[in-house]
Amino acid sequence: MSGAPQEREAAAARAAALRREIARHDHAYYVLDAPEISDDAYDALVRELRDIESVFPDLVTSDSPTQRVGAPPSSQFAPVTHAQRMYSLDNAMDLGELDAWLARVGDVVGERECAFVCELKIDGSSLSLTYEDGVLVRAATRGDGRTGEDITANVRTIRDVPLRLHEAADGDAASPATRGAVEVRGEVYLPLAAFERINAENEEAGLPLFANPRNAAAGAVRQKDPAVTASRELATFVYQVVDARRALGVARQSEALEWLRRAGFHVNPDVVVCASADEVRAYCTSAVDKRDALPYEIDGVVVKVDSFALQDELGYTSKAPRWAIAFKFPAEEKTTVLRDIRVQVGRTGALTPLAEFDPVTVAGSTIARATLHNADEVARKDVRIGDTIIVRKAGDVIPEVVGAVAGMRPEGAEPWRMPEACPSCGGPVWRPEGEAVTRCTNVACPAQRLERLEHWASRGAMDIDGMGTEIITRLVERGLVHDVSDFYLLDESTLATLDMGRVKQDGTPVVLGPVVAAKLVAAVDVSRTRPLARVIFGLGIRHVGSTVAEVLAEEFGSIDALIEAASADVPTPGEGVSVAAALAADPIARVEGVGPAIAASVRAFLGNPDNQALLARLAERGVRVAEERRGPTEPQTLAGLTFVLTGALDRFTREEAATALKRLGAKVSGSVSKKTSFVVAGADAGSKYDKALALGVPVLDEDALVRVIETGEPPVAPSG
Ligand code: NAD
Repeated sequence: MSGAPQEREAAAARAAALRREIARHDHAYYVLDAPEISDDAYDALVRELRDIESVFPDLVTSDSPTQRVGAPPSSQFAPVTHAQRMYSLDNAMDLGELDAWLARVGDVVGERECAFVCELKIDGSSLSLTYEDGVLVRAATRGDGRTGEDITANVRTIRDVPLRLHEAADGDAASPATRGAVEVRGEVYLPLAAFERINAENEEAGLPLFANPRNAAAGAVRQKDPAVTASRELATFVYQVVDARRALGVARQSEALEWLRRAGFHVNPDVVVCASADEVRAYCTSAVDKRDALPYEIDGVVVKVDSFALQDELGYTSKAPRWAIAFKFPAEEKTTVLRDIRVQVGRTGALTPLAEFDPVTVAGSTIARATLHNADEVARKDVRIGDTIIVRKAGDVIPEVVGAVAGMRPEGAEPWRMPEACPSCGGPVWRPEGEAVTRCTNVACPAQRLERLEHWASRGAMDIDGMGTEIITRLVERGLVHDVSDFYLLDESTLATLDMGRVKQDGTPVVLGPVVAAKLVAAVDVSRTRPLARVIFGLGIRHVGSTVAEVLAEEFGSIDALIEAASADVPTPGEGVSVAAALAADPIARVEGVGPAIAASVRAFLGNPDNQALLARLAERGVRVAEERRGPTEPQTLAGLTFVLTGALDRFTREEAATALKRLGAKVSGSVSKKTSFVVAGADAGSKYDKALALGVPVLDEDALVRVIETGEPPVAPSG
């Protein structure tokens, strides 16, 4: 207990900071209709405050956002005092919290039967509608729950709000539909199509965009000019009759909803009455799937106790009814505290800042780190160590830092800077002008080495099955592997005794063992036969991805030929040397699909004597450094001709056709130029066909192609 006073002090400070920040966002959201952060991020702040207040109840203040609803009405509209308070709803953020609520209800209900009504939680703005003698006399916003704003003129323009109740509602002349006052409540919302249209119009007019349909709806009902409201195409779902027992003589929420339907209101069709807690759980879980298909936004399910008598017994807190709960869909954004920005060194020496934060569950899984890509990105997001940050999963998979919560920055938090020395080897780092990436320039940097080894063994490169990060790390630590050529010296007995740096329960070290060792040696051996393109890709030359590697392998056919091409004297474009002349003199850059930047990178790599020595070792150890030359059986009748294939062929895939042509010595290229000899056009040929016509390149149909492949005779250019 000795730490308690300090703990309380820290909690009080954090609570005060949270309250200030939440109040600022409430104003932006409810008064200005222009939130600065997402609802998920906002909810996370409120939740953190609520958690602190539940541990230290004496820290709760009467003005705490956990105790209040919405925001006071603006003076722009006449105030309306609600005859009965308009409450907010308590949230259940997951099934566990839903269960806790169901259990609390169960404690009050005991053995009695208790049905629940599940309704979709429409993401709009609360609305109160008062009818006198069946006629709409007043519409109001929720405001702070006690006093709202009179928006009658605006709401009259919303087409699905009945201006007069349908008399058939009860079939009784003395019914509230025709006599006396009745207040109903619901949600006014903006359908997604209207939201998108309004934002598109605003964008065109250079006006600010709405953050979400909910704020757009809240803004639309609070317009000075009802004609503007009318133009927004708002819609409503009504879900409550105030004091329904007295007004309608009904005993249940489900019956009130029925009456609302008959009275002419738009009641959401997705309402279900559940007889048990299990049914409630099932509905809440399945509702998430409806979300994307609906033409309006929902952010959860509202579960209500059906019986009004039981609702009375359960009562209200200062903010919300105890007889209802909003089950919120899993948050796509969360807030957490940024603990560190660590720098990782990649295989090409790129330094990547990585955000490390307190673990949070986002969209169903726990995340604790996310890439920040580069120094510019860190500066743009202005995230600093100690900041409360907003994180999400991009495309629901990749963790991403959205930004920092501006008002919660700890004092003295400094802007982050990229280190001036490589965090792995201490060597110098360099950021070329005009590039976003900072790099370690030391080729012997151990972090780069590890990444390079992993890349070589990876699936897209040499695909050495089983050679993963952990084993490679151990091999490097034991001094068994320095570069990729060392993989080819590993033998079974050395590998079998490789210490994995862990111990078994009995204290003996864990070793790789003979079975895994044998498999690894076999996998390394198989990788010797990978085609040249994989070898070139596996070297990890900057800018050389798998496609460029294939082009280079195809063009040069061997590492030796590539090294020779890389040694060509290439003039730098500038004084007296045109770009075209430089390109023409560069045997690598002029290959289609390569270009000067990639060529420069290949030259830099292959010009390095260390790398040449590495390639020599690879060759010595049996790795394929030259494509097998075609057998003498195929006469190279199409040598010197370049084909481009476009459109769909009937008798083969384009790859099969390309292979057949290449076997006869032809080149097959992806794009049409003046140098193209023939374009083969299948069905639905597109721009390549047009380009061939424009350049006067002869075009062949599939029959002509079949003839060429079958006879090996070069095609005759069709005349005309
Ligand atoms: P709420 O919107 O989460 O829930 C209560 C409301 O739900 C009710 O008032 C009612 O209008 C609505 N509702 C929709 N369907 C309903 C149904 N079938 N039955 C009953 N009610 C239904 O709570 P709130 O107090 O209005 O506002 C909190 C919300 O506003 C949170 O989602 C919060 O994230 C967001 N907010 C965001 C910011 C920000 O800066 N991003 C600031 C303040 C509030």
